[in-house]
Amino acid sequence: MKLNELNDMAFSAGSAAPMPVLFVGHGSPMNAIEDNEFSEGWRQMAATLPVPRAILCISAHWETRGTFFTAMERPRTIHDFGGFPKKLFDVQYPAPGNPALAGEAAGLLGPVVAGQDEKWGLDHGCWSVLKRMYPSANIPVVEMSLDYSQPGQYHYDLARRLAPLRKQGVLIIASGNMVHNLGLVDWRKMDLPGFGYDWALEANDKMKRLITANDHAPLIDYRKQGKAFDLAIPTPEHFLPLLYALALRGKDEKIEFFNDKAVMGSLTMTSVKIG
Ligand code: ZN
Repeated sequence: MKLNELNDMAFSAGSAAPMPVLFVGHGSPMNAIEDNEFSEGWRQMAATLPVPRAILCISAHWETRGTFFTAMERPRTIHDFGGFPKKLFDVQYPAPGNPALAGEAAGLLGPVVAGQDEKWGLDHGCWSVLKRMYPSANIPVVEMSLDYSQPGQYHYDLARRLAPLRKQGVLIIASGNMVHNLGLVDWRKMDLPGFGYDWALEANDKMKRLITANDHAPLIDYRKQGKAFDLAIPTPEHFLPLLYALALRGKDEKIEFFNDKAVMGSLTMTSVKIG
């Protein structure tokens, strides 16, 4: 049986509608504590969703060799950044883990053997967004790592196997940024949301067009899409989560963009709701 058949079966099994899937552009960790249009967009998005039984978060900030799921009962809040105010380091996101879900998700990956991790926790790719979406931290969260040794196609194929979780009330959130070039950030434009370099806007628009057209092949093959993509994706970790979200799109499922804006020239906050 082919993976896409498996995926379609997952969507047709049972009566419950599958949970939507999100790709969230997370941007600066300050979005966790600053009230701005992006954190407001996350809050509003959560309000439109059914309350999930659990959350599976694929984070740009957990790169490993091989794939891992956090499997502890109480994942710690990881402050994986420097140079930010103390009040950001004081933030805790004490959501429970869900070791059973970590085991189940690993079991879905077929021939890929995924590890059960007891050491990581929730990094800011995950908690900075969840803090705004689900501030009471009462929904269990499992984080999934990104295997840095693998190309786009591998990640896309792997993600498709997670589809059955959507039918079980699990909200899958892939957290990164579609356009993310920290080396070219214009810090003076910090307070001017909407400012994007021409190439950043070009790459963001092209990505949106491909997503809307359900034309995923050029996105999987992102390294061969020319200068704007090369500048937008200097390293893959913030882009790859997008492939996880797209791979989970069922046939004819709705696509909706939110927080669709550039910041500081070389980042875009553009986020996608599927389903
Ligand atoms: Zn990040």
